Amino acid sequence: MTTLNRQLRLKARPEQLVGPEHFDLVQSPVPELAEGQALVRVLYLSMDPTNRVWMSDVPQYMPPVAIGQTMRGLGLGRVVASRSAHFAEGDLVQGLVGWQDYAVIDDKRAKDWVKLPPHPPVALPTLLGACGFSGLTAYYGLTDIAPVQAGETLVVSAAAGSVGSIAGQIGKLRGARVVGIAGGADKCRHLVEDLGFDVAVDYKAEDFKKKLAEATPDGVHVNFENVGGAVMRAVMSRMVNDGRVALCGLIANYAASGRPSDDYSVIIVKRLTVRGFLVFDYRDAEKGVRELTQWVLQGRIKAGETVTEGLENAPKVLNRLFDGSTVGKLVLKVGDE
Ligand code: NAP
Repeated sequence: MTTLNRQLRLKARPEQLVGPEHFDLVQSPVPELAEGQALVRVLYLSMDPTNRVWMSDVPQYMPPVAIGQTMRGLGLGRVVASRSAHFAEGDLVQGLVGWQDYAVIDDKRAKDWVKLPPHPPVALPTLLGACGFSGLTAYYGLTDIAPVQAGETLVVSAAAGSVGSIAGQIGKLRGARVVGIAGGADKCRHLVEDLGFDVAVDYKAEDFKKKLAEATPDGVHVNFENVGGAVMRAVMSRMVNDGRVALCGLIANYAASGRPSDDYSVIIVKRLTVRGFLVFDYRDAEKGVRELTQWVLQGRIKAGETVTEGLENAPKVLNRLFDGSTVGKLVLKVGDE
């Protein structure tokens, strides 16, 4: 019987939010495997702010997705057929599977794929969140880029999200006083009551700047920046001299026109160290994954996911990262085990 593959191919570049009108849903038979190839049934797609960036024809760290190309996307799946020397039937793999039901992977690019334990100790969505790239982003941001010390004040923006929620909890494990910034009272309550942040500040509230100042009486030693724009400016104005900024993301700018921020004077005046970084540069992430997994299994870090379903819904679901209607890691279930 012929196995059919559905693919979401980029049809038009979105100006702001993403919709079905920007994609063609195309169905075709999965190709015959050549020697050195394996077929992966995609199980979960990771919904990432960077997906939105990849749709735009702007300078970035990878080429933008071309019109007509299957949307690039991180995810995980199970090898269901193999003529590969590296991947056997039954292997669980993670990598750029794309927005489709099946991905063909090639031995020539074997190093681009992570082989996961066949029976992982945590749920599959957690492998894309706390124990995957989101967790690793938080981990390297706070251990390598802007290491936070006990007693310091750490501020994390988009704090109820996938990266932010783990960054804040790592900050607590390191003995920092942790202030989270999130949109709305429910998310702020979640940060303090469920995740153990010291304080949470609602950036959508009128008195945001006043509340941020009250939450950081000794200033901010480390800013784990996920947002940019007005949120970033407010946090930067609270930095101590010689403070450090892990510049992780600028989501406020991904689906909107305009510049994230061009007030650099605070960096001079306060002698700040601002370091941008990309988690993909940490190729040998075994130690990070091991430590994050232990923390999750020991209950020292709470992993949370918002799980949605249906490949065809991917464009609509991605917008939930921009309207704030998710908590923790946003994943899309595409196939059954
Ligand atoms: P996420 O935080 O789970 O989801 C995005 C969150 O951002 C939303 O839930 C929303 O929360 C907040 N947000 C959206 N638009 C906003 C705006 N205009 N102003 C303020 N807050 C806004 O997503 P994530 O995957 O963990 O990514 C978080 C950040 O990390 C992104 O900037 C992403 O690009 C970056 N990142 C960087 C790397 C790296 O290697 N450097 C790797 C992964 C992710 P609220 O409800 O609180 O508004």
